[in-house]
Amino acid sequence: MKRLTLLGATGSIGRSTLDLVRCHPSDWHLYAVAAARSVDEMVAICREFSPDLAVMTDIAAADQLRQRLADCGCPTQVEGGSEALLPIVTAHEVDTVMAAIVGAAGLLPTMAAVKAGKRVLLANKESLVTSGRLLIDAVASSGAELLPIDSEHNAIFQCLPLAVQQAGGRAHLAAHGIHKILLTGSGGPFRSRPLGELAKVTPDEACRHPNWQMGRKISVDSATMMNKGLEYIEARWLFNTRPHELSVVVHPQSVIHSMVQYCDGSVLAQLGLPDMRTPIAHAMGYPQRIDSGVAPLDFTRVGDLSFGEPDLQRYPCLALAQQACWSGQAACTALNAANEEAVAAFLEGRISYPRIAAVVADVLGLDYGNEPVCLDGVLAVDTMARQAACRLIDRDNHRS
Ligand code: NAD
Ligand code: MG
Repeated sequence: MKRLTLLGATGSIGRSTLDLVRCHPSDWHLYAVAAARSVDEMVAICREFSPDLAVMTDIAAADQLRQRLADCGCPTQVEGGSEALLPIVTAHEVDTVMAAIVGAAGLLPTMAAVKAGKRVLLANKESLVTSGRLLIDAVASSGAELLPIDSEHNAIFQCLPLAVQQAGGRAHLAAHGIHKILLTGSGGPFRSRPLGELAKVTPDEACRHPNWQMGRKISVDSATMMNKGLEYIEARWLFNTRPHELSVVVHPQSVIHSMVQYCDGSVLAQLGLPDMRTPIAHAMGYPQRIDSGVAPLDFTRVGDLSFGEPDLQRYPCLALAQQACWSGQAACTALNAANEEAVAAFLEGRISYPRIAAVVADVLGLDYGNEPVCLDGVLAVDTMARQAACRLIDRDNHRS
């Protein structure tokens, strides 16, 4: 029986993970769950799975959950506040931690799980984007295992030789015959929209992803291809790539989830329906395969597959992320923070779509001093970049 702590239990990745636990009740015990403030969903999760512990980082939500569980006789113990996340990821009872909190709030508990030497199923992109070097170093010193959940990185992982899979992000790719990692992306809903019309696109249009059902923030990131940019940074750390070993390929059908090109001309790809239960099942079962509940891919209905190069004029956010990737952790942290603020402002109708990239570019141009060498340093850059982005966004609002 494996024992799981699920961070972000009420989110989209959290719900898919619970589906897998539901499908494999004799293999998995849900030790602890955590979320921010969705009490109704947490009550339902605790009643169904009876985890030992439930954490709500919002204290008032924790109080409500405690009362509701007491009323229905559910034995789950409830803790409140973000400090309560640390004991549930480091507890000796836990072997696997699913890191699926969204945003920078996922940073500290993910790092704590890695330092405690757990098997970490990593969905929280922000941890690698902002602190890739720190996280990979912590994996090396603690012996933790990092298994990627993001569908592209999970696909790449599956196409790598065992020795590279087990090298904790420190393998020399060329020594294993790997020529290049090809990160695929659909190009989002505006792939063929005339460039002149982008100034007028609405948040709802930006959120209408052609292939994946996701939250609004990540959907906008898919439209701008900032999501692919963040994934480019993730891949750089997870697989220890050098600049010439990593490329983005536009593949509008999202049937291939990414590929690895070898020096003998072979290309290995992972294909499947766009359903996050596949990468989650892969990581939960690794190195075995377990059922995910996802239907098999029917090749007679797939249709044509096409591929192209990303147009960086259409997707300036991708170019900014690629630049930040090779300039360092401060730049990646600033990029991520500015993008979060700009996307939130776009979704609230406070800035236009093209201003997302403009705000990120301006914030990236600032001086962040020396490279951060600890999480506090990363968080300081994050705060500084958010403040700069908010000033730019406010200035836009005053003008309009
Ligand atoms: P979501 O918004 O659906 O859910 C987020 C979860 O985090 C919720 O349970 C919420 O309660 C919790 N949370 C939010 N703020 C918190 C805080 N301050 N403290 C504690 N918990 C907090 O997000 P999601 O789509 O499930 O994505 C989770 C992570 O996985 C993100 O980093 C995302 O980039 C990544 N990811 C998601 C997908 C996808 O298909 N949804 C694919 C690849 C990667
Ligand atoms: Mg992805």
